[in-house]
Amino acid sequence: MRKRRLRDLPPEALDGRRALVRVDFNEPLKDGRVADETRLKAALPTIEYLRDKGARVVLLSHLGRPKGPDPKLSLQLITRDLERLLGTPVEFIPDPHTGAAATRRLPRGGVALIENTRFWPGEEANDPTLAATFAALGDLYVNDAFGSAHRAHASTEAVAHLLKPAVAGFLMERELRYLGDALDQPRRPFLAVLGGAKISGKIDVIEALLPRVDQILIGGAMASTFFLAIGFGVGGSLVERDKEDLAKAILAKAGAKLILPRGAVVAPSLERAAERREVPSDRVPAGFAIFDIDETTRLDYRARIVGARTIFWNGPMGVFETPPFDAGTRSVADAMVEAGKRGAVTVVGGGDSAAAVAGLEDAFTHVSTGGGASLEFLEGKPLPGVAALEDA
Ligand code: ADP
Ligand code: MG
Repeated sequence: MRKRRLRDLPPEALDGRRALVRVDFNEPLKDGRVADETRLKAALPTIEYLRDKGARVVLLSHLGRPKGPDPKLSLQLITRDLERLLGTPVEFIPDPHTGAAATRRLPRGGVALIENTRFWPGEEANDPTLAATFAALGDLYVNDAFGSAHRAHASTEAVAHLLKPAVAGFLMERELRYLGDALDQPRRPFLAVLGGAKISGKIDVIEALLPRVDQILIGGAMASTFFLAIGFGVGGSLVERDKEDLAKAILAKAGAKLILPRGAVVAPSLERAAERREVPSDRVPAGFAIFDIDETTRLDYRARIVGARTIFWNGPMGVFETPPFDAGTRSVADAMVEAGKRGAVTVVGGGDSAAAVAGLEDAFTHVSTGGGASLEFLEGKPLPGVAALEDA
């Protein structure tokens, strides 16, 4: 079902009105400052559009996993960075219960930021009373927090029932377009590249993608569990022994669609990278573990990716946080960028995968800001934060 969008609202619905915008400012903090501004920047188009239309912008977000009020997770820590990015003062409102008057005093185009929604117990309980408190802070509701849409919380779900119009912001719209339409009606060949640490978290994604894609290229530790299922020795590789049968079932179901790495980069441990070598997938020596896909696989995957017209990627090909085991992940990223230059639609989902391409976002069609949400959406699970918005 299509959802009503911010861009669908007429000017008079915005001018002078208080827009309560649920954003995802759940950024990593370091020494009390924002360590990565990706999510702040991703929310700017919606905020700037609203300001431009004369709205008073009231921002709502969670940050981290506080167990109640916690100064280390106060959104006030983000205010200065937000002011710099917006080039305008941001009024911090420490308590939503007493904040409505301050939102009414905002000038047209003014911006306020409400304290961390998770400081109040009603947030995660999707409590209608807290939702009513939030609803009193605005005259319309915009949800731009795709990364939080898979949670039914007071600020993402219950509030959307109380404050109308309730519409999707630009980031939300983009996420739904590229993870939804682009992958629902893909230009073919349609390739998925899946990696990461565990099969268990990705089974539903594999199952959902299998009937839609032409091929799935597997990498990461996920591949090792498939190797185990085939009967290869995996040495000390990270595997999920209890998922062997499941891996067998997926292999049988997927047939020729599922492509496994031909070889691996192995080492005795991450620390002993100097002793690394490349081996065929069925020749992993005892005492060695798989930490990346090998050169042969990189070239194979590159050729397949560059020849595809739609590519969805989730999950690093190796332990990309620890060079030189980032080579396989970099090579998939490069191949996708190359495919994009040739006109392919390239979409990246997943928290670690997005981190692996940080700084290169513009070279992809879309890099999802929603780690868990992007996967749940691909699995076909309804996202409560989206479902609660008005239908178009
Ligand atoms: P995403 O967040 O993009 O969905 P995951 O969380 O599933 O990705 O997986 C990312 C993690 O997988 C990374 O921390 C990476 O180090 C790990 N990983 C990838 N390949 C291997 C491997 N061969 N052995 C151990 N860990 C791996
Ligand atoms: Mg992850």
